[in-house]
Amino acid sequence: MIVITGATLPDGTSSDLAIEGGRFVDVAGKGAGSRVIDATGLVVLPGLVDLHTHLREPGFEQSETVLTGSRAAAAGGFTAVHAMANTSPVADTAGVVEQVQSLGDQHGYVTVRPVGAVTVGLGGERLSEIGAMAGSRARVRVFSDDGKCVSDALLMRRALEYVKTFGGVIAQHSQEPRLTEDAQMNEGAVSAELGLAGWPAVAEESIIARDVLLAQHVGARLHVCHVSTAGSVDVVRWAKARGIHVTAEVTPHHLLLTDELARSYDSRYKVNPPLRRDEDVQALRVALADGTIDIVATDHAPHPAESKQCAWDEASFGMVGLESALSIVQLAMVDTGLIGWADVASILSRKPAEIGRLAGYDAAFVPGSPANLTLYDATVSHVFGLEDLRGKGTNSPYLGRELPGRVIATIHNGYPTVLEGELVDAAEVALAAQAARSSREMSQA
Ligand SMILES: [Zn+2]
Repeated sequence: MIVITGATLPDGTSSDLAIEGGRFVDVAGKGAGSRVIDATGLVVLPGLVDLHTHLREPGFEQSETVLTGSRAAAAGGFTAVHAMANTSPVADTAGVVEQVQSLGDQHGYVTVRPVGAVTVGLGGERLSEIGAMAGSRARVRVFSDDGKCVSDALLMRRALEYVKTFGGVIAQHSQEPRLTEDAQMNEGAVSAELGLAGWPAVAEESIIARDVLLAQHVGARLHVCHVSTAGSVDVVRWAKARGIHVTAEVTPHHLLLTDELARSYDSRYKVNPPLRRDEDVQALRVALADGTIDIVATDHAPHPAESKQCAWDEASFGMVGLESALSIVQLAMVDTGLIGWADVASILSRKPAEIGRLAGYDAAFVPGSPANLTLYDATVSHVFGLEDLRGKGTNSPYLGRELPGRVIATIHNGYPTVLEGELVDAAEVALAAQAARSSREMSQA
């Protein structure tokens, strides 16, 4: 049993919490024989849920594995991640999604929920085995060709029709391919000055506009990945006002960084969608605060050093983000007074779980609900360094920057994965995960 004393809940009140058998239990009378964590001065958040993570396994284990990505996630305060399908083989069959999920279960740092590909091999030509993945042990509910856009309108329509039958969602990477051929960075004053091929905002906005209309026509759920422009915010706001079932995410980096950083030619700032103008950053912050954008998702995209330590044109797109996400949300949204910790709990836990149809995150800290939480010290700050990166990727745009906050502890299904700011040993976590699984199975039997 674990007892947590003196933590500040997201709503600002203080409470002790008790955990037993993987669940929150009534704290009254608990204490003797327990592991006690003194959380005085810390914020307790529900376990964070990422709807957009690239774990790279199978196939790209030099970039990340389910284990290393899970460790990066736990270090960042996450207890569940949705693993994107652009692996090799692509996660477009029941076999691959079950494999990814069971690797996550074995390692135990976080709950790994596979995302299924919309089209076979991400080829954009034929629908994948969506029904088989949904009906598999992995019970896939989120489908995405992320990295690529489902640009064929008829395929997008059919995919929306298919997932509607079981309450799934299509998560679209909105990028009109013809408008972004060879694009290297945001199209605007900076790209013109640097002579780099521009990536126009309309390439994103036109796909979102088409897709919300398709979602309305079909009556299905659409999720828009990594919204990056003020115009995209306008389209999503319009769609929500019309009652269309659309949700949207923004990444931490799009809430903070701008295309001005490309002037350094430092490829850590090369990302898809690209960093945009300051006006876009400001519009994204407002949209997240007013609920137009529903959630923050990391788009954690690890790459081996050789794919990033090269000329801008040749470098891969992507940044790692799991370890720094909460700090960036604090910096961009909380410390600026735009939102409070209760909103953070919503945009980084409850709502992403709801969109992903992940159970157990709707009643955080209530006795009987699964014990997933993060203890966070929002009062400290430090220079973010390589030692803060716990996955394989070092392509973080924040190295050398002063960032607020630190994850002190993460508890997943009732057992700790991070304690005193350090990851718990992998063997210990795997054993705890196994014990939690068998006790769940026994209680179900
Ligand atoms: Zn994407």
